Amino acid sequence: MDFVDLHSHSTASDGTLAPAAVVRLAKELGLTALALTDHDTIAGLAEAHAEAASLGVDFLPGIEVSCEIPRPGTMHVLGYGVGSNSPVLRQMSESLIAARDDRNPRIIRRLNELGVDITLADVEAKAGGGVVGRPHIAAVLVQKGIVPTTQSAFDRYLGQGGAAYFDKERLERGQAMQLIRAAGGLPVLAHPVQLRMADEAMVEKTVKELVDLGLAGLEVIHSDHSPTDVERFSRLADRLGLIKTGGSDFHGANKKNIQLGMANGYRIPRAFFDNILERLPARV
Ligand code: AMP
Ligand code: FE
Ligand code: FE
Ligand code: ZN
Repeated sequence: MDFVDLHSHSTASDGTLAPAAVVRLAKELGLTALALTDHDTIAGLAEAHAEAASLGVDFLPGIEVSCEIPRPGTMHVLGYGVGSNSPVLRQMSESLIAARDDRNPRIIRRLNELGVDITLADVEAKAGGGVVGRPHIAAVLVQKGIVPTTQSAFDRYLGQGGAAYFDKERLERGQAMQLIRAAGGLPVLAHPVQLRMADEAMVEKTVKELVDLGLAGLEVIHSDHSPTDVERFSRLADRLGLIKTGGSDFHGANKKNIQLGMANGYRIPRAFFDNILERLPARV
């Protein structure tokens, strides 16, 4: 049986492997297809696509964007099949990065006020260009020995309730769906468990609302999903006629417990990739 990974991050956002290196790893692991889904950017897609073409790995260009949702939940939407040169996504990406350029210095300033010795230059060096986010700040805090692990960096400083937490700009749900559709892609709700909704009825209501806004699929296999989650989200996807997708959410050394192609013990069947391709709007 052939396996794939449809959710991965590179140095274009908060992963630690370059786009081409993620593709090489997929090849080494015997995966037959890969989607690169960096946060807020399509900057890694061209490099990954070229490497995939030369290695004979099927490549699905992607992106992951964050939407407004009440705390403590998070709502991430994957866009599959987006153009790697899409003007609408480039523009969106620029505006989200500009918002981060506003937020990152505030986080650093607060850390300095708390007596933590860290500079924006440290963080930018860690990120190596592209989207600069909290995982890069966390990595510097670990490297400097200020906290022992990434998790403790988020718990103590960077996460909701942390001493240096600042919110980030997110898209409205309809806006996210429209942008992805306008870029020729299919919007898929990532890791629905992270919505952290009180009950099944609430999840179903939310997903139905997203469908009305243009949602095409549901990520049913993910590293944060228990076997029960995989089963309940698969049933929900089937009931609502949504495409089922899956991925590890690989981030390289920024999420050390996640291996490419593996999601909490599950591998991702090739059919998930084929189903997306089948549903993608034809390119003109
Ligand atoms: P940002 O986009 O800068 O707000 O950072 C969000 C990213 O940080 C997420 O996509 C995750 O990759 C990572 N992240 C969030 N919470 C945690 C956590 N508790 N531990 C490790 N990584 C996290
Ligand atoms: Fe991330
Ligand atoms: Fe996500
Ligand atoms: Zn992700």
